[in-house]
This record gives sequence, C-alpha cells and structure tokens, in this order.
Amino acid sequence: MVTRRGWMQGTLLAGFFGAAAPAMARADTLPWRNWSGGLSCQPRQRLVPTSEQALVDFFASTTGTVRPVGSGHSFSPLVPTDGHLLVLDAFNGILTHDASALHATIGAGTRLGDLGPALARIGQEFFNLPDIDRQTLAGATATGTHGTGIDFPALSGYVTALRLVTPQGEVIDASATSRREVFDAARVSLGALGVVTQMTLQNRTPYRLKQQSWTAKVEDLLRDFDTLAAKHRHFELFPYVHSDYAIALATDETTDAVDNPPPDPAEDAGFIQLIRELSQVPPAERLPIINAVAEQSPPSVRVDAAHRILANVRNVRFNEMEYSVPVEAGADCLREILATIRNKELDVVFPLEYRYVRRDDTWLGMSSGEHDHAAISVHRAAWEDYRPYFDVIEPIFWKYGGRPHWGKIHSLGAAELSRLYPHFADFQALRAQLDPEGRMLNPHLRHLFGVPA
Ligand SMILES: Cc1cc2nc3c(=O)[nH]c(=O)nc-3n(C[C@H](O)[C@H](O)[C@H](O)COP(=O)(O)OP(=O)(O)OC[C@H]3O[C@@H](n4cnc5c(N)ncnc54)[C@H](O)[C@@H]3O)c2cc1C
Repeated sequence: MVTRRGWMQGTLLAGFFGAAAPAMARADTLPWRNWSGGLSCQPRQRLVPTSEQALVDFFASTTGTVRPVGSGHSFSPLVPTDGHLLVLDAFNGILTHDASALHATIGAGTRLGDLGPALARIGQEFFNLPDIDRQTLAGATATGTHGTGIDFPALSGYVTALRLVTPQGEVIDASATSRREVFDAARVSLGALGVVTQMTLQNRTPYRLKQQSWTAKVEDLLRDFDTLAAKHRHFELFPYVHSDYAIALATDETTDAVDNPPPDPAEDAGFIQLIRELSQVPPAERLPIINAVAEQSPPSVRVDAAHRILANVRNVRFNEMEYSVPVEAGADCLREILATIRNKELDVVFPLEYRYVRRDDTWLGMSSGEHDHAAISVHRAAWEDYRPYFDVIEPIFWKYGGRPHWGKIHSLGAAELSRLYPHFADFQALRAQLDPEGRMLNPHLRHLFGVPA
C-alpha cells in the first residue's frame, strides 16, 4: 500500500536521483522477516537501487547502517537492521554470456530458480545447486551456500568474476587476475564488503540427472559412504533421529526420459502431522516407531534437467544449524550427534542432513583451504524453540574442528573464527579498508568480525 509519507519520501528520492526514471525506488517500510520467521526487523527504509551509479550516490548521500538482502533464506541474523535495507531485485537476469567458455554474467539479485531455465536457453547449466533454489545469487554466495558432491565446491567456487560497489563509492571489478584479494574475499562476503551487483559463473552444457532415494541402516550407509560418494555424481544422507535408519540420495547423469512428477502437497502435511504426533511420544520410546516408518518408506526415482533435480521445494518451515568438518572426521561427528540425541533423549524429530563438499580457494568458504569437508545439518521445526537442541549439538561440531555455515545458526565470534580460517585476519583488514566507517555492519556482523559498536 502506498502511504502519504511513503509517497512523499519516494518523490524526494526520485527528485534526488532524477525524476524521469528513479534510480532508487522505495519498496516500503514494512517489517522484514526471514524465511523461517525466526528473525525480523523494522528497517528505516527499504530501497531498490536500479543502477550501480544509484548505489554510489546512495552511499555518498546517506549515513547509517546498510544491509543488502537477498531472498531472506538465511537463519543467522546477517540481514536485520534498523538502518537501510537494500533489495537487489533490479539487478536481475543474464547480462552477457560466452558460449565457448560457458560463462554467464548474471545480475546479483537473480533467484537461482529463475536462472536454471534462463541458462538452458543459452545452452548452459549449473554444475551443482543447493537443496533449494529460492536464494539470490549474491545471497547464496555471500554465505558460502553449497550442494552435495565430493567433486563439487560451493557455488562461490564457480564464480570467475564479480563487481562490488563499496560504501566509499568504489566500483571494483574483481577476478583471479584483477584485484585478487577482493575476489577471494567477496566470493563469500557475508554482505560485509559492500554491494555485489553482478557475478560471472562458470557453467557447463545442459545435462539430465537421475535421482534415486532409498532407506537403509545408517551404520551401513556410513560404512560405505566414501565408496558411494565416489561412485555417484552426488550422494547424501538424511539420517532419521531416534532411529537406526537414514534416507540415501544418489544422483547421476543419465539420458533416460524425463519422469519427474510434481511433489504431492499431502507429503508436507503428512510430515508436519508426523512431527506433531511423534512429539507426543517420549523420545526414549520413539525408536521402534521411527524404524517402522523408515522401513515402510518406498524407494523413489526421478529424472529431469539437472537444475530441476538438484533443488527441491521445502514448504515445512524450520531453523537450522550446519557445520562443516574435515571430510575424514565427518562420519564420527555424525555418529556422535546421533548418539547424543538418543542418549540425552533430545525431543527432536527432524532428520539431519549429511553431505560432502569439495574445497575451494575463497577466504571464508566453509570448505575453503586444504580439505574437502563433510557438512552436517541439524534442524528444528520453526514453531519449536531450537536453542536447547542446538546448544547441546554445537560443542560436538567444535570438537571435530567444525566451521559454521554463515547463513545458519551458530554462536561463534571473531576469536573462534580467526582460529578456524587462515585468512580471517586478511578478510578483517580488507573489510576495514573497504568500509572504514563500518556501515555494512549490523550487531551480528560486529560480533563476527570483532568490531565494537
Ligand atoms: C529451506 C532452505 C534450504 C537451504 N538449503 C541450503 C543448502 O542446501 N546449502 C546451503 O549451503 N545453504 C542452504 N540454505 C541456506 C541459504 O542458501 C543461505 O542462507 C543463503 O545465503 C540465502 O540466500 P538469500 O538470497 O536468501 O540471502 P539472504 O539470506 O537474504 O542474505 C544472505 C547474505 O547475503 C548478503 N547479500 C545479499 N545480497 C547481496 C548483495 N547483492 N551484495 C552483497 N551481499 C548480499 C546479505 O547481506 C546476507 O549477509 C538453505 C536455506 C533454507 C531456508
């Protein structure tokens, strides 16, 4: 709804940036909420810049905290601010592409889900995707978002160039051969260095995937995990809690005919009902029930274009904590988490997720550095308090040298993070250089980077 005050402020901005085509549209001043509903804020204003010059002018003409927002799918409080919220929706779509190198330069606010079909139209396809595709390209890469597969780094690992508008009004084109330090930092930036307006992705030719899922004993799957991860293009587990079983998901290239019926909405309703019903059963008594559910769940197969298989629709809202540990430690860490949930009779139902991610050369990627990593996620339904559960599990991740996913819930600050990332001090120094006034920092980012208010 356009309010009188909103209209007046919008008019002022339009006047400032040029009345013919406002370079910075005011969206509204509604409160902001993230996907899970666990985070909210009331920004001073929500602005939609339409050009890089508008961003430069915005930084020059305003004071106070600035947070860029993607599609609000992070669980950690990277976005909330009572300052300026910048929505990058106008930086959208494929801007240019190179058909021989299979590169595409893409507006940073583009949703991954819109990109799959757009890439197909120019003869390109993602190498990999996360579990969903609702995120924006800039939002996903800013937190080191990843999919699964020992041969596949996080999405940031496929970025070959990017453009950053800094709070000081510099417009930086960064790549492996130009402003290398900005490239290494800004591929996983947490939105702390400025506003990314475009990114170039290394893609490949289109291909089709076949995904098979089945249920088996978690111990058997963990024993064979490395073999299965090497055999299949993508392999991952969703271990049930208070159970001996896990769902296994194996995904491979295929030329089989497309067969991918849309998900049945009744599945989500059934899952919510299962969570509610199991919550009525004491945790110590759930094992036979969940084992029976697992044993009865039928195997499934689906075939489609890669981007339609790699990403899923997740309608049941939850909060999540995810850490990555060096790949050799993954199975033991997962075992200890499952045993802790069982032995402490923790009152949770949501399955875990266990996947491998290849190393990359970004400064703050969760799998950056010398090791491939195993990423382990714990979830709690959005209507339940996640803290008692996550507080018990988080120290287990620390024991195995875990690094937290930047977009998911964790409690670490600068002191711990600087021990986990060899380039943490480099990132801190570059951040201070690009944003000396700390305009890109909200309280959470100040905690992460050790910058007092
Ligand atoms: C259902 C669900 C499933 C998920 N599955 C996975 C998964 O499989 N793998 C995985 O790794 N993660 C997963 N995530 C986490 C998710 O990918 C990340 O939290 C991601 O960052 C969200 O992207 P977004 O566009 O919503 O960004 P937001 O959450 O809105 O923002 C994230 C960060 O990006 C910054 N940002 C946004 N736009 C810009 C810009 N233009 N310039 C600079 N900074 C910017 C923000 O300031 C913020 O710091 C999942 C989340 C959900 C809710």
